[in-house]
Amino acid sequence: MSQVKGFASRAIHHAYRPHENEGALTPPLHLTSTFVFETAEAGGEMFAGERTGHIYSRISNPTLDLLEKRIAELEGAEAGLALASGMGAITATLWTLVSPGDEIIVDETLYGCTFSFMRHGLAKFGVTVSHVDMTDPENLASAISGRTRVVYFETPANPNMRLVDIARVSEIAHQAGATVVVDNTYATPYLTRPIELGADLVLHSATKYLGGHGDVVAGLVTGSAEMVSEIRLIGMKDMTGAVMAPLNALLILRGLKTLALRMDRHCTTALKVAGWLEAHPAVSNVYFPGLQSFEQHGLAKRQMRQPGGMIAFELKGGLRAGTEMMNALNMIQRAVSLGDAETLIQHPASMTHSTYTPEERAAHGISDGLVRLSVGLEDLDDILEDLSQALPQHPVHVAA
Ligand SMILES: *Cc1c(COP(=O)(O)O)cnc(C)c1O
Repeated sequence: MSQVKGFASRAIHHAYRPHENEGALTPPLHLTSTFVFETAEAGGEMFAGERTGHIYSRISNPTLDLLEKRIAELEGAEAGLALASGMGAITATLWTLVSPGDEIIVDETLYGCTFSFMRHGLAKFGVTVSHVDMTDPENLASAISGRTRVVYFETPANPNMRLVDIARVSEIAHQAGATVVVDNTYATPYLTRPIELGADLVLHSATKYLGGHGDVVAGLVTGSAEMVSEIRLIGMKDMTGAVMAPLNALLILRGLKTLALRMDRHCTTALKVAGWLEAHPAVSNVYFPGLQSFEQHGLAKRQMRQPGGMIAFELKGGLRAGTEMMNALNMIQRAVSLGDAETLIQHPASMTHSTYTPEERAAHGISDGLVRLSVGLEDLDDILEDLSQALPQHPVHVAA
C-alpha cells in the first residue's frame, strides 16, 4: 500500500494486509486477554524487552495495534496508543508527563472533565495548573517558566469554539522546554494535524468524530515512539489501566473509513447552518470558525482544512430562550457528545461544563446562555426546519 497517499485511502487501508489475515477484508477481532509464549524463555525475553510480541491485552493487542498505526499515520505521528476513553487518554498522558512540583499551563477553555481533572485531580498531587488565554500566544510567552512541564489546549475549544495557533504556541513552549499536548477531538486529523505544526502529543476522544456513530467510548494518543511508549507502559498499563477493548478498536477502525466523507458533509452543512443562525433575529451570537464574523477566521483558514461541524450560539433571550428552543426541537436530539450522524444539542453550563462553578465559567468564557450544536449528517433542510420551528419567531427583548 506504499503508493496510497490520500487521507481517505490511508484511513481505509493503512497497515492492514488481507493476505496476512486469511484474506479477510475486515481486520480480525483479537478477542483475547492473554497471549501464549512459544517457550518459557521467549516469554522472559518479551518481558525483558529483548523480543517483540504481545504479552497481555492491557499492554497491547493486535486489533488495537492496527488502530494505533492507522491513527498515527493520519496524524503524521510516529506512534499511536488506544485507550478506554478520551479521559483515559488525557489522564494516562498527564500522569506520565508530570511530577509533584511541576507546572502545567492550560488554555482558559477546556472540556468539563479535563478541567475537573486538572483542577481537582492533578492539583491534589502537587502539580500546579495555571490557566492562560492562549488565543493570544503572547500571553503564554509571559507566563511560561522553567517549571512548566506541559502546555495543554484544545482547538477549537469545547464549548466556545476559540482557536489556538498551534505553530506559535508550540514554538513558545519549546523555547521553555515544555511538552505541547493538543486535544484534537473537534478538528480530527482530517481538518488539522497539530504534530505537523509543531505539537508533541495529540489526543482524542475517539468517541466523537473518529467513531462517528455514537456507539462507543474510546480515546487515542499519538506522538513520538518514545513518548507514546512511556504513556503505554506507565500511564496506561500501571497508572490508569484505561485500556481499549478490542471490539471498540474495530468500531473506531470502521469509523475512520468514512471520516473524510463524514467530515466533508458535517462541515458544509455546519457552514450553512451557522450562516442561517447568524441571520436569524432571535440569535445574538454565533461562534463558528467558518464565518467571516468569527474573530479568528484568519487563523481558522490557516490551520483548518475546513471549519468543522461544531457551532456555539447564544439567543437574545438568554438561557431561558435557549431552554425553550431545545425543548421544542423534534428531530435534533438533546444530548451531550458530538460528531455523530444525529444532530445533537446541549447546554454546556448545566451539562458538559457544570464541572465549572458559575464564577469559573464566567472567567473562562462560557456564558450561561451558550448552546452547543453538533451538526449531524441529516439533510440540511430538515435541520434548518427543525431549528426554525423551535426558535422564537420574534426576538425576545429582556429587560436590563
Ligand atoms: C468528549 C471529550 C473529551 C472526553 O472524552 P471521553 O471519550 O468522553 O472520555 C475530551 N475532550 C474533548 C474536547 C471532548 O469533547
